[in-house]
Amino acid sequence: MTGTDGPRWWFESGAVSLDFAYTGEVDGGRVQQEQFGRPDDLGAWLAARFDGIDAHVDDRALADALLLRSAIGAAARTVSRNTAPDADAIDTINLFAATPDIPPSLEGGRRRAGATRVQARQALSTIARDAVRILGAHPDRIRECSGEDCDLLYYDESRSGSRRWCAMQRCGNRAKVRAHRARARTARTGHTGRAPDGSA
Ligand SMILES: [Zn+2]
Repeated sequence: MTGTDGPRWWFESGAVSLDFAYTGEVDGGRVQQEQFGRPDDLGAWLAARFDGIDAHVDDRALADALLLRSAIGAAARTVSRNTAPDADAIDTINLFAATPDIPPSLEGGRRRAGATRVQARQALSTIARDAVRILGAHPDRIRECSGEDCDLLYYDESRSGSRRWCAMQRCGNRAKVRAHRARARTARTGHTGRAPDGSA
C-alpha cells in the first residue's frame, strides 16, 4: 500500500492477511481508500499475489471477501490492543480457513497437478489461514504503529521483534526528527522542560 500524505512511502504490513485487510478501512482506523469497488478489483488483487489464479470473480465471491476482510481487520485491531477478538470475527475467519486453500506444488513436473485454475475462494482460504497463523500463534506481534496520530497495524516479522513503525520513511523518520529537535532545544536552553522536582 502506498501512502498519499506527503512524500511517497510504502507500507509493508508483514502478512498477506493484513495486506488484504488494508484494501479497505480497517476497524477503528482511519478510512483507507476502498480498493474492491467491483469484483474485477478483487480478481486483479488476488492475481497479483497468487500464481495461476482464475481472476474471474463474481458478486458473491466479492461479498465473501469483504466479510472475511472486515473480520480480519476487527480481530487484528482488538488483538493489537491486548483484547480478545470478537467471537463472530473468529468464527468468520475459521469458516474461511476450513475450506480448501491453494495447494502447494513443485515446479518442474510435466503436468499441472490441478485440472483447473485456482479459484478466488481458495485464495480467500489461504488468506484466512494466514490470519489464523498470525492471530493464533503471534498475537503479540500484531501492533499499532508507534507514530503520533498513526494507527496502522502491522505484523512484526523481524527476528528481534523490535519493529515500531508502519514505515521508517514515514513515522520512523518523523519520530527521529522530533527527537532531534527536542535534543537541540535542550542543548540550547539547558533544561528539559521539566520542573526542578522532576515532575512534568
Ligand atoms: Zn505509522
